[in-house]
Amino acid sequence: MSALAHRRVLLKLSGEALMGDEDYGIDPKMIGRLAREVIEAQQAGAEVALVIGGGNIFRGAGLAASGMERVTGDHMGMLATVINALAMQDALEKLGGKARVMSALKINDVCEDYIRRRAIRHLEKGRLVIFAAGTGNPFFTTDSGAALRAIEIGADLLLKATKVDGVYDKDPKKHPDAVRYDTLTYDQVIQRDLQVMDTAAFALCRDSGLPLRIFDMSQPGMLLRILQGEHIGTLVSG
Ligand code: UDP
Repeated sequence: MSALAHRRVLLKLSGEALMGDEDYGIDPKMIGRLAREVIEAQQAGAEVALVIGGGNIFRGAGLAASGMERVTGDHMGMLATVINALAMQDALEKLGGKARVMSALKINDVCEDYIRRRAIRHLEKGRLVIFAAGTGNPFFTTDSGAALRAIEIGADLLLKATKVDGVYDKDPKKHPDAVRYDTLTYDQVIQRDLQVMDTAAFALCRDSGLPLRIFDMSQPGMLLRILQGEHIGTLVSG
């Protein structure tokens, strides 16, 4: 079907990626642009699943810091990811894509429950699948949800879109001499104490040998170029 370097990928977007120039919530222009890129990648022949965070609306840790019970805060954070997933489903469908939201929390009046075999079937049938509500458990993040779902559906790559164009030896915003890594092994990430994802998410990737690419999606066209085999950002693998 295509000469892509990757057959099935899971793209993790933070909730903040949807904010664009806003301070909160969803910027329609930004979600439209991201949706267009996802559809381009799919039209090139890839099966694409998505996980979107909820940090543009609520994060459990932030709510707990303001006095709320942590588990309730995490439930609100997970529901925020469902809101983002529904917005992305809408944006994808406006552009002619077929998309399904599957939630780890049961709210099946608004989206499907997550069922692994059904998710794989959607992908095989050319549908974009958006996994919502992270892992469905408090005290986790959507990075863990992304790693978990990527492994479950047999994705060959987990793509983590960030505002930085890869992993650096120190914070490039504070240190102009920071050096970006092209490739890293899982062990190097641990030995050098590099911030790639949270520990639980990273352990899942490492234990399953799931390759992970960290890249900057604020630059248009990066997703397709990665799928076509271009080396963009930082690849972490075994
Ligand atoms: N969350 C959770 N369990 C999960 C995934 C997410 O409790 O498996 C909650 C948690 O409160 C988190 C919030 O949902 O802060 C939003 O997710 P995340 O912080 O990962 O979003 P991002 O930073 O990627 O926008």
